[in-house]
Amino acid sequence: LIIPDWGTFTQTIGEIFDVVRPERGGNVATYIPQLARCDPNYWAVAVCTIDGQRKSWGDANVPFCLQSVSKPFTYALCHEELGPEKLHSFVGQEPSGRLFNEICLDHSKKPHNPLINAGAIMCAALMKKDAQLADRFDFALRSFRRFAGNGFVGFNNSVFLSERDTADRNYALSYYMREHKCFPENTKFQDTMDLYFQLCSIEANVDSLAVMAATLANGGVNPLNGERIINNRACRDTLSLMYSCGMYDYSGMFAFKNGLPAKSGVSGDMIIVIPNVMGICIYSPRLDTLGNSVRGVLFADEFINRFNFHNYDSL
Ligand code: GLN
Repeated sequence: LIIPDWGTFTQTIGEIFDVVRPERGGNVATYIPQLARCDPNYWAVAVCTIDGQRKSWGDANVPFCLQSVSKPFTYALCHEELGPEKLHSFVGQEPSGRLFNEICLDHSKKPHNPLINAGAIMCAALMKKDAQLADRFDFALRSFRRFAGNGFVGFNNSVFLSERDTADRNYALSYYMREHKCFPENTKFQDTMDLYFQLCSIEANVDSLAVMAATLANGGVNPLNGERIINNRACRDTLSLMYSCGMYDYSGMFAFKNGLPAKSGVSGDMIIVIPNVMGICIYSPRLDTLGNSVRGVLFADEFINRFNFHNYDSL
């Protein structure tokens, strides 16, 4: 087994969980009522190794919407479908150095990367683009479930409706991209927006999302049932982007301090991938000013202080 002394290992994670719990900094997202109303005290962590060893702490059964944590999985599925050349003719690989929803494109008039809103809307435009919207959503939901090895993956319709109603910035981003002819031919504008909001509104809990992260840690093969969900290259490219662009404007600092690919979302969810070892999922709704979960970032700090999982540890 990849973690021989599972008892000691999980005991240490449990200690970190308790050390981080008293942290009360930050605020829940308020741009939609469904997130504003959420209990700020929720605190949950789960891990799943590439051998399928699992454990969770705290509010592990509380469902939350994935928000931006859906973006790496959406990208991975587009990569599997289109291949890297075609996909990256529409979206770049560069950290934007700007806010996640800023209205800007790179020097070749493409969205900077698939993990900020503009790039994720582009992926929503590309995913099974010639199918009906209902079938495209079904494909996404079914695929996310496969990443989770049939763990809990749901859909929050109120979040979807609120997202769509409070989306001036995302519409502005898309009109800006349409002005610059960024979208593939025959893109259905409203379908693209709806699919993007729906992807943000897909739900999981820390248990199921840790398995999704572990599938990325395992090269695209679900560690619970051995099913291959995406090819190796799609997985590699997803992790590379998470490493450089996964934590908003904190991505450089996170890569520097922790040396691991990660992704956060405005619901307070966060995944960390330790390649060839395991996936970690954290849920704590209070966010810092950059939009990352305060306890999530703190957990990562404590975690990397106690284990040598930084990419450049033990050289
Ligand atoms: N629904 C949010 C948006 O599109 C998701 C962004 C996020 O999690 N950062 O603005």
